[in-house]
Amino acid sequence: KLSKRLETVAKFVPTGAVVADIGSDHAYLPCYLIHKGIAASTVAGEVVKGPYESALGQVKKEGLTEKITVRLADGLAAVEATDHVDTVTIAGMGGPLIVSILEKHPQSLQGVTRLILQPNIHAKVIREWALTNNWAILDEDILEEDEKIYEILVLQRGAMTLSPSEILFGPKLLLRKAPAFLKKWQREKENWQRVLQSIEGAEPTLEIEEKRAELTALLELVEGVL
Ligand code: SAM
Repeated sequence: KLSKRLETVAKFVPTGAVVADIGSDHAYLPCYLIHKGIAASTVAGEVVKGPYESALGQVKKEGLTEKITVRLADGLAAVEATDHVDTVTIAGMGGPLIVSILEKHPQSLQGVTRLILQPNIHAKVIREWALTNNWAILDEDILEEDEKIYEILVLQRGAMTLSPSEILFGPKLLLRKAPAFLKKWQREKENWQRVLQSIEGAEPTLEIEEKRAELTALLELVEGVL
């Protein structure tokens, strides 16, 4: 059975989509998308040999080699123009790694109209990247599984404007304030307070002062939301 996290990613894949799942590991998501009749076909990309072989094995075992092409490649280099990919999923990595994958092979995004991204941490950098690269947030989701909280960002082409608070919390997530959202930011708030306290008595170097200002600004944002 697919994790709740990947099921939520799958929920945002349009029916009939041609999907590239980058960093696919066991190719669980592409297999699910084909079995459920959601995707028409998919590419599963992996840069590491071990996971690439797991993906190949899984696709064979499930009898899906006609519908899923597994490629050993760095990020979006797994996507070829003749694939006609329209949807890209990248899940289970940090926000900065997801952004670096999106930036490294921009030509692979040419026919792509939807990005479904699930950063484990630092979703903020993805929103910043979207803002400056003409992608707009179509939807967002947040969920808790095994004590961890995950955010999912769904992007489509277009311009958007976001306030500092929307960049940090996510515009859609901020409107809904789901239980997982409140839990995540309560946790973050407590972490920031702890760090702020720990530098309270420290020598006021430039670095310390900068950290203090940063944490104070973050706490102000989070207190405006909780
Ligand atoms: N996407 C799956 C999920 O969400 O369950 C697997 C997540 S796993 C933690 C991250 C995977 O991304 C690893 O298998 C890793 O080898 C792969 N990966 C990391 N950087 C990559 C890159 N530049 N190109 C392709 N795959 C990459």
